[in-house]
Amino acid sequence: MIVMKFGGSSVANADRIRHVAEIIKKFSSKRPVVVLSAMGDTTDDLLSAADQALSGVISLEAVEKLHKTTAQELGISPKDVDDLLGELRTLLTGISMLREVTPRSKDYLVSFGERLSVRLMAGYLSSQGVRAEFRDAWDIGFLSDSNYVNADLLPATWENIRNRLGAYAAGKAGDGMAMPIVTGFIAKDEKGFITTLGRGGSDLTATIIGAALRADEVQTWKDVDGILTTDPRIVKEARPVPIATYDEVAELAYFGAQVLHPRSMQPCLQTGTPVRVKNSYNVDAPGSIIVTRHETTPSPVRAITSKKGVTLIDIVSTRMLGQYGFLAKVFDSFADHSISVDVVATSEVSLSLTVDSKKANFAGLRHDLEKYASIDIRKDKSIVTIICDVRRSSAILAASFAALAREGVNVQMISQGASKVNISFICDSDESDDVVRLLHDCYFGKGGLCDGESASV
Ligand code: ADP
Ligand code: ASP
Ligand code: MG
Repeated sequence: MIVMKFGGSSVANADRIRHVAEIIKKFSSKRPVVVLSAMGDTTDDLLSAADQALSGVISLEAVEKLHKTTAQELGISPKDVDDLLGELRTLLTGISMLREVTPRSKDYLVSFGERLSVRLMAGYLSSQGVRAEFRDAWDIGFLSDSNYVNADLLPATWENIRNRLGAYAAGKAGDGMAMPIVTGFIAKDEKGFITTLGRGGSDLTATIIGAALRADEVQTWKDVDGILTTDPRIVKEARPVPIATYDEVAELAYFGAQVLHPRSMQPCLQTGTPVRVKNSYNVDAPGSIIVTRHETTPSPVRAITSKKGVTLIDIVSTRMLGQYGFLAKVFDSFADHSISVDVVATSEVSLSLTVDSKKANFAGLRHDLEKYASIDIRKDKSIVTIICDVRRSSAILAASFAALAREGVNVQMISQGASKVNISFICDSDESDDVVRLLHDCYFGKGGLCDGESASV
């Protein structure tokens, strides 16, 4: 059996839904479990409707029109969609009256996006003679913690999925069980409240289903020809990476590439279930395959990614650096303020690290660290990460520094990840896109470090 996940752009309107239904039909003999995101920009629209409701305005027209029109254009009964839209309007009215939206009510609100899209797809597939049934994720056992907005799935989810879908997956359900069309992104906690798995979380929904059911593969269908050598919005010549490992993709996602959810590799890493990234707009393109390890020597660099808006902190303590317990003390201070660190580099006299600016209470942290070190906090930085084989870091760094020096780019920190797959540079945010372009050309351009190699991996 296989899992087929379609992102928002793949199901953005009635035409796209018809097209995706054709793709699903082609794979119907493989007993697919289908996972869907919300249509197009629905999640963003719902979040901005919540913001508007805070100032007393109920703005739901775009979401209502999209789903009602789509049901009509697909020629299916509007009943399921209308019921949900009614509940959604009631919720927004509540928010607008209270002028308050908690993380928990935000999750309840955005869950409507995925719940609407699966009803439309299941309705349409049924109208085409495919036995399909929509399933809200909690109905097939998706159980999470109560960390609303970015919840983690509980281990019980694995067994629950097997209990609910095992017979279908094994082909033992005979004609008795319809193809499940499952909501991505959402779950329920142990108290029964709706949670979400973080933006882009439908990828994780798909990979945990695939891993739990030991699927032959998990297909994630997007609007690009696979995992690309960098963000195509920065470098339009970015090209598909044919094969990557779970570790490489996890780092790529963690360091900013939107293409897959940062935690989505974890389930398949445990079971070795292959994940394929395909383009629903270009079905014949081979896409990318994500596996445990490279069987042949791959090119030195897999991809480049960047994460803007980070803060660089230099901690200097000639008195304590290198002394027993110093690093523990520093990291305790970060933990006390719930600030997680992305990249670290140490030298003889200083420790440099980066943190995500949006989430940090710098005043409290500075106060604590200044008790034993001098601190320099610099905002508006960017981490540019090279996903590569760090065993070949000398060649990669030599080529990178030559290119950066030629263009006069000042790299403020460099760190080689312990994971063996990443090297990160820190630069100013406003230089970040140029650095990515420069490095992409240096590795993947004509005569570059990986020219002619990446196709052979
Ligand atoms: P979906 O909604 O189908 O999950 P996303 O929009 O979340 O799709 O992710 C796909 C988008 O990620 C692409 O359209 C592309 O703009 C962006 N992206 C950024 N970096 C990469 C990369 N390295 N490879 C592929 N896509 C990338
Ligand atoms: N709809 C959610 C989002 O936009 C989840 C997803 O698309 O994976 O983030
Ligand atoms: Mg996504």
